[in-house]
Amino acid sequence: MIIVPEGVIPNLIDRTTSYNAVESVFGAMARGDAYNFPVIRENIGYADALYGFKSGFDKAGLSLGLKSGGYWPGNEAKGLTNHQSTIFLFNPDTGQLKAIVGGNYLTAVRTAAASSVSIQHLARKDSKVLGMIGAGHQSAFQMRAAVEQRDFEKIIGWNYHPEMLSRLADTAKEIGLPFEEVSLDELGAQADVIISITSSFAPILMAAQVKPGTHIACMGTDTKGKQEVESALIAKATVFTDEIAQSITIGECQHAIAEGLITQDQITEIGAVINGTHVGRSSDDEITLFDGTGVGLQDLAVATAAVELAIASGDAIEIDL
Ligand code: NAD
Repeated sequence: MIIVPEGVIPNLIDRTTSYNAVESVFGAMARGDAYNFPVIRENIGYADALYGFKSGFDKAGLSLGLKSGGYWPGNEAKGLTNHQSTIFLFNPDTGQLKAIVGGNYLTAVRTAAASSVSIQHLARKDSKVLGMIGAGHQSAFQMRAAVEQRDFEKIIGWNYHPEMLSRLADTAKEIGLPFEEVSLDELGAQADVIISITSSFAPILMAAQVKPGTHIACMGTDTKGKQEVESALIAKATVFTDEIAQSITIGECQHAIAEGLITQDQITEIGAVINGTHVGRSSDDEITLFDGTGVGLQDLAVATAAVELAIASGDAIEIDL
């Protein structure tokens, strides 16, 4: 059995490896070669924490396992990230535990890879302005991955807590692109691609604020009750997701579905676009929206890559069970 400690992972896995792992498993899901098991996510009534399991099996990549963890909102004050998770991989031939892999950094890179995959496959090729809604831990990972998909010239941002916007400004500076703090009206009017990555429980971005041709990646809503965009925006857009079952229950589409504004057959898995069985964006005026709910198979895909890289680099700790 192998342990890949959290601390070695940032030096092992790069954005290209993560992008390829996530794009490949989304394709496998849409072909029916990989599937996620039902998600368990509970408010444990302690430390305001949400805790649960995401799991699945990828027959094509032979990844079987689960991610255990959740969200502890008080962690930042303790110098820890709010998301805490660990990935367990099992041998699909024997059921034996194969690896324990730190899941914090991998969660951030696999989530950033998911919105990147959506930008690559759905955003207009001439997209120039990236709009960021949210300035928490995930936002910097999202921005770094997104700018690799199009020739962006400017990044603009809005956050519910404006004092956190320095994270976006610093990350844009590191990337080498100008950054501007804007109102939500300005963000919608200027941005060609918008990423929302917040823990909001009420709509932030309204349908009327978004211009034709925009691609929106809604990445923050991963729990029942959370919401980042107005349901009318979902109804107006061509909607894609990682997995329909999650999208309509814990993802951004849960509200539009509950309000009867869309039906689940109007939502397409992004894997279909990756596999070439759905055209994706069909015009420059179309608003495309990716509901990135975060599936267990993304975690297993990047953890499997991390294990291979850790063995190759000598960072893997081997233990006899
Ligand atoms: P964080 O705690 O570091 O940041 C939270 C962000 O949400 C900040 O921008 C904050 O200003 C904003 N926010 C907080 N309360 C708000 C409110 N009432 N209204 C609007 N905005 C508010 O969290 P993070 O690690 O950056 O994660 C952000 C979100 O992304 C969380 O909801 C998390 O569960 C989700 N997430 C989703 C996936 C996925 O795969 N889809 C993966 C990881 C995290």
